[in-house]
Amino acid sequence: AAPFDVASIRRDFPALHQSVNGHPLVWLDNAATTHKPKAVIDATNAFYARHNSNIHRAAHTLAARATDLFEGGREAVRRFLNAPSKDDIVFLRGTTEAINLVAHSYGRAQIGPGDEIIVSTIEHHANIVPWQMLAQQTGATLRVIPVNDRGEIIFAQYAALLSGRTKIVSVTQVANALGTVNPVREIIQLAHAYGVPVLVDAAQSAPHMPLDVQALDADFLVFSGHKVFGPTGIGALYGKAHLLAAMPPWQGGGHMIEDVTFAKTVYKGAPEKFEAGTPDIAGAVGLGAALDYLARIGLPAIAAYEHDLLAYAQAGLADVKGLRLIGTAREKASVMSFVIEGQENEAVAHHLDARGIAVRSGHHCALPALRRFGVDQSVRASLAFYNTRAEVDAFLTALHTLPRH
Ligand code: PMP
Repeated sequence: AAPFDVASIRRDFPALHQSVNGHPLVWLDNAATTHKPKAVIDATNAFYARHNSNIHRAAHTLAARATDLFEGGREAVRRFLNAPSKDDIVFLRGTTEAINLVAHSYGRAQIGPGDEIIVSTIEHHANIVPWQMLAQQTGATLRVIPVNDRGEIIFAQYAALLSGRTKIVSVTQVANALGTVNPVREIIQLAHAYGVPVLVDAAQSAPHMPLDVQALDADFLVFSGHKVFGPTGIGALYGKAHLLAAMPPWQGGGHMIEDVTFAKTVYKGAPEKFEAGTPDIAGAVGLGAALDYLARIGLPAIAAYEHDLLAYAQAGLADVKGLRLIGTAREKASVMSFVIEGQENEAVAHHLDARGIAVRSGHHCALPALRRFGVDQSVRASLAFYNTRAEVDAFLTALHTLPRH
């Protein structure tokens, strides 16, 4: 295979070429959000500059064009996930809204007192709080899969939690605070043995590895556009057709109805019945452009390149005095979460920022995950395929020059 041409890839990302505090920007905050290739910026600009219209195909020429572009974005998501049909793809604001939709619509219809919902210890708050709210409203119970000291879920304990009371399993594919890659295929297979559907939170996996909802046999899978080099404010839910068909709408309004009288409303089918109101049309177009861009580079090539870069970076971190890596799973993607003895996390992030290096310090919206390791904050550096060894070197050098007290 051709070598991964990171220099050429970087030329596609305007935001990477700037100085911050007198240093070239080193963006290691990819788990929070990613930068956008020119293809995405151009597609979004072109939408607003030329094609802009609400989506109601029959009205006029621009309306037809905008509708085709919007639906083209949906088809790009379908291809990206290898979903059977583009009707299985619902556009939403992002991962958070997608999980809330499933908890609200699927959850309220299917879950009642005494039922159980399974999540893992290493979830983002977006995959905890909606289920907790649902449990409170319905009298169901939230059960939590524990993790070992590496931050890997303990599969036998997951198996022990599954029962006839389980109504849904909702787990992340890559943990945002630790970088653990969960064995979602095995998690799904076991749940299906109990007839239990599984939601996969792919917010942190979609940018780093090929996804295939059919190979996974995922029942629901959700991700955010802004973490896959697309715009903010747009994301998607994939759901199996028979599940979406049986789910009630969650918001009511325009675009989602077949007919309305004051006596009764007839809803459209999926996906429209979950897309009340004017959607983020330009966002869907930009997301489509991002996914097409990723497909041109190839997610297998991206995964291989990042795997090497992560190994290189983690080996370097092992030499930083007093540094404790949180999350040492055998299978990881992108994320290095750590604390340094005698250093405030925020001070470490500021020291790096003064050298142009962007990382995040804080709880990363995953407090239960961090608390499992005895902390409630960490510094998190997270890689994407546009990062280089030279950038990792700059990051490591900056850590070696932290003022020691
Ligand atoms: N799940 C995971 C694993 C995440 O990393 C994030 C974003 N940090 C979310 C859910 C929420 O995504 P969003 O804020 O884009 O809705």
